[in-house]
Amino acid sequence: MALSDRTLLGPGPSNPYPEAVLGLSAPILGHLDPEFISVLDRVCDRLRTVWGTANPLTMPLSGTGSLGMEAAFANTVRPGDTVVIAVNGLFGRRMSEVAARYGAEVVAVEHAFGEPVDVQRVLDAHPSPAIVAAVHAETSTGVLSDIGALGAAVHERSEETLLVADCVTSLGGTEVAADDWGIDIGYSGTQKCLGVPPGLAPFTFSERAWRRRVETPPVWYIDLGLLGAYVRGGPGGRAYHHTAPVGMIAALDAALERITAEGTAEVAARHRAAGARLQDGLEDMGLELFAAKGHRLPQLTSVKVPDGVDSAKVRGRLLDEYGIEIGAGVAEYASTVWRIGLMGHNARPDRAELVLAALREVLG
Ligand code: PLP
Repeated sequence: MALSDRTLLGPGPSNPYPEAVLGLSAPILGHLDPEFISVLDRVCDRLRTVWGTANPLTMPLSGTGSLGMEAAFANTVRPGDTVVIAVNGLFGRRMSEVAARYGAEVVAVEHAFGEPVDVQRVLDAHPSPAIVAAVHAETSTGVLSDIGALGAAVHERSEETLLVADCVTSLGGTEVAADDWGIDIGYSGTQKCLGVPPGLAPFTFSERAWRRRVETPPVWYIDLGLLGAYVRGGPGGRAYHHTAPVGMIAALDAALERITAEGTAEVAARHRAAGARLQDGLEDMGLELFAAKGHRLPQLTSVKVPDGVDSAKVRGRLLDEYGIEIGAGVAEYASTVWRIGLMGHNARPDRAELVLAALREVLG
């Protein structure tokens, strides 16, 4: 069955890098084949580069970004632990739900959608939480938050508190410096700025997190002790845990090779340039951006639907007539906001111009 070749300018997935597509067509190897193990080792090294970390436990988990979120809390929350979560969009809300399922006493610090995380409010929410968590790039609203400032504040107050950062929409598009920022547990997804199809969750876990981890988490599949025995190996070599998705890992390897060859700073600059072109163009058309000025993500632009315009109809026409996917808003903003992504391979001026031209036509 031939599927349509779309231009994916929504909140994800994005069109993968051509290198990642080639990586997908590489021969399938066994997950314990020494040749594959060297690919896996290289992927973990390249992930350390994009995460900005020396954490030995840095690896792709076999699932989407939400599995990364699940693994973050499953391996660190003990029933009754206080977990302070900055909620400034849908994914902060999801973190609260996931952490609560592992028995956390969640203190959700609610922010208006469209605003960045307020470090002082998060700090003031509880004097000694076990974990503080926040979303770096809130895809649901198009907002970037300062995780470095949050990490510095949290760790200055206590060496014991762990910082969880959701970097699903930032990794590979906005620079992340996990070690410098004090991120103890970071997770991402492959389908956005990393330019790989959905299916893997790049993950990093600090030594401090390892010292306070839950030794037998309630979910076997994401038990980092068991996963580490495969990814890092032990005295007896690599221990089978589950069959690694070798094709997806080869695709991630190819995309990471491309990203690190371009340079993470250069990739981030490319995302900033493309995002600025789109955001300037939208404002030139008389449209109003949704996210707070000064905190807008370049890779995901949220824009208000003009009064009297049928949001879904416009998205439908973009898809049917131009083959362009953009996203709706979320929750209470479902029909009043559009979300336009320029991520990974799509973080280019021509893609910005393409969606602007199509929108101009559709809006008349
Ligand atoms: N966190 C953020 C910020 C996201 O944007 C997403 C997905 O859009 C997720 C978590 C969940 O990732 P996934 O849909 O890959 O499971």
